[in-house]
Amino acid sequence: MIAGIVARNAELAAMGGVRVLVPPGDDMALVELAGRRVLCAADQVIEHRHWDAGTPLELVARKALARNVSDIAAMAGVPSCALATAAFAADAREADAEAIAEGFRRAGREFRCPVVGGDVGMHAAAGAPLVISVSVLAEPGPSGRVVTRAGAHPGDLLCVTGRLGNAWGAAGTGRHLSFVPRTAEALELVRILGDRLHAMIDISDGLAVDARHLAQSSGCSVEVDAAALPCAQGAAWQSALGAGEDYELAFACEGMPPAEACGTPVTVVGRFIDRQPPWVTAIVDGTRLDAGNLGWEHGLPERAP
Ligand SMILES: [Mg+2]
Repeated sequence: MIAGIVARNAELAAMGGVRVLVPPGDDMALVELAGRRVLCAADQVIEHRHWDAGTPLELVARKALARNVSDIAAMAGVPSCALATAAFAADAREADAEAIAEGFRRAGREFRCPVVGGDVGMHAAAGAPLVISVSVLAEPGPSGRVVTRAGAHPGDLLCVTGRLGNAWGAAGTGRHLSFVPRTAEALELVRILGDRLHAMIDISDGLAVDARHLAQSSGCSVEVDAAALPCAQGAAWQSALGAGEDYELAFACEGMPPAEACGTPVTVVGRFIDRQPPWVTAIVDGTRLDAGNLGWEHGLPERAP
């Protein structure tokens, strides 16, 4: 649907004096505005889909902002500010709005990305799901480099930061509520790797799906070694590859990456190869499996894992 919106509005962008340098379809759009390059993106979280009932709303607000800041990390950007909207059920309590406001205040300070405006609305119905939408603005980092999903070459290594899998946790109380977006690590990778860093994405839908995004955007395929996956505690390789909500970075790198970035471990988990179906292959005990459809894609009927 996003592609359709872009196609219908592409010719209108110039009316606002905006040049679209990277259109939506990457983690963020990059536009040139009054001579400056600005990264912008919007993302939303929906009750029962992105958090379980009973989750403190301060943490929900934090997650709503954090996953947007994770998209900034994916582009190697530096957060500027955010806007937020919330659509409450008709029977929502005042305390709910206050919890969300406080969650945004704390998260804005933590991520150096203050929420500077927005809107609050009410559903007509009692019990309607809470929906929180956040838009973020960011600037390129000190090097001026913006890293997109396109640019991986056959022979590049597929690398990830941190640990993967089991992010939803027991009863929905796992890392997806507490992760720290990898903005510092992304800038460090740009600094260390320079032009050897070819493409990057953050892992929201699961490594299999997000590696497929890297591969498809770059016109490559990618092989993932299941045995190399840095599994989080309690996570099997299937969860590390497909469960999603990790908000780590996955990137294509020419030659070996550093062992860590800003203290966060970096692991080589696969390799890009010439384009050939399938897009993503998992190598499990010497057997090759089509892994491109593992993982969570928002918009499907299933809830996040
Ligand atoms: Mg993303």
